[in-house]
Amino acid sequence: MVMNAERHASTAIERAALLLREGGLVAFPTETVYGLGANALDLAAVARIFDVKGRPRFDPLIVHIADRSDLEPLVTEFPPAARQLADRFWPGPLTLVLPKAAIVPDLVTAGGPTVAVRIPDHPLALALLRAAGLPVAAPSANPFGRVSPTTAEHVREQLGDRIDLILDGGPCRVGIESTVLQLTDGRARLLRPGGVTLEEIEAVIGRVTVPDPAEFSRRATLLPGARPMDEGMVAGLASPGLLPQHYAPRTRLVLVDDSETHEVSEVGTGRRVGLLSARPFSGTGLYQAVEVLSQTGDLCESAANFFAALRRLDAAGLDLIIAQTFPEQGLGRALNDRLRRAASKC
Ligand code: AMP
Ligand code: MG
Repeated sequence: MVMNAERHASTAIERAALLLREGGLVAFPTETVYGLGANALDLAAVARIFDVKGRPRFDPLIVHIADRSDLEPLVTEFPPAARQLADRFWPGPLTLVLPKAAIVPDLVTAGGPTVAVRIPDHPLALALLRAAGLPVAAPSANPFGRVSPTTAEHVREQLGDRIDLILDGGPCRVGIESTVLQLTDGRARLLRPGGVTLEEIEAVIGRVTVPDPAEFSRRATLLPGARPMDEGMVAGLASPGLLPQHYAPRTRLVLVDDSETHEVSEVGTGRRVGLLSARPFSGTGLYQAVEVLSQTGDLCESAANFFAALRRLDAAGLDLIIAQTFPEQGLGRALNDRLRRAASKC
C-alpha cells in the first residue's frame, strides 16, 4: 500500500512506525533515494530485507538514525574526524563506517566489525525514525543490482506487492545515494562516492584514501570460475558497494564522452538508440529517445534526475542507451561511478 505522507503525514507516519516496531518492512523517502526500512535490531525483519531485494548477505546495510545521541549504542568509537564530519554534514547524504557495538546484528554488517550509519536529511524520514524509536536498516528500495528508486511509484513498480507500506514523500531531492566513508584505524577511506563530494569531505578532514575502482574489478575477474554475484568472489571487498556491476538497466548501456558521441557505430544503423545526455543536446534525429539531465549542465540537477531518466530510457524499448560521462569532480564522480557500474557487463 502507498500512503501519501505529504498530505496525511501524521497518520501515515504513525502507521509506518508501528509496522517497523512489529517487524514489518516500510519503504520511505530520504533525500538520496527511497529506502527499504526494517528494525535494525530485529533479525527476522532484516532477513526479510535481503529476501525481498534478492540482496546477497555479504552486502551490509546502512543503519539510519534520527539524532546523534542514537549513535552511541551502535558504535564503539566515534573518532574526532567522524565528529567533525557529522557536525558538518548530518543530517545529510554522508554515511560513516565505524567500529560496531555488539548490539548490532552480524546480519546488518555482513559479519564485519564495522557498521555504516547516517542521519538522513528528509523530514518524513526523520519523523518516521523518531516515531519508531529504533535504528532502521535501509538499503535502497529496489531489487539488488537494479536502478535505484527516486519516487514512491518506482518502489511500487518493483517491490510493491512484497512490502508492508510505501510512504510517498514525492521525488528525492539529491537523487543519488549517500557517500560511504570508512573511518577506522585512524584512516579515512572513500568506499562509495555519493551525495557529499570528496572535495567537501577533504575540506573538513584533509586527505581521504580513494580506492581505484579498477582494482576491485580486476580482483573480481581474477577469481577462476566466479560469476559476478558469487559470495566467495566478493568476500574480500572492503565494501560491496564497489562491485563492478550495479544500478543496471536491462537495456545495454554504452558510455561516451562528448566528442565520441557521433562515432558510436550503432547510431543511425536502424537500431533503436537512446541518449542520456549530461548537457543540453542540439543533435539530429538519430536518437529515438533523449533524456537531458540538466539544461545548464548543473550537476545537482543532473543527480536529481539521473535514475528516473535512466528508468524512462530503459522502458522505451531501445536496443541501446548511450550515456555521456561527467567531469570527474564534485558530484560528477558519483554520477560516473553509477554510470560505469550500470554499463558494466561482467
Ligand atoms: P545501499 O544502501 O544499497 O545503497 O548500499 C549500502 C552501501 O553501503 C553498500 O555499498 C554497502 O557495501 C555499504 N556498506 C554498508 N555497511 C558497510 C560496512 N559496514 N562496511 C563497508 N561498507 C558498508
Ligand atoms: Mg542500493
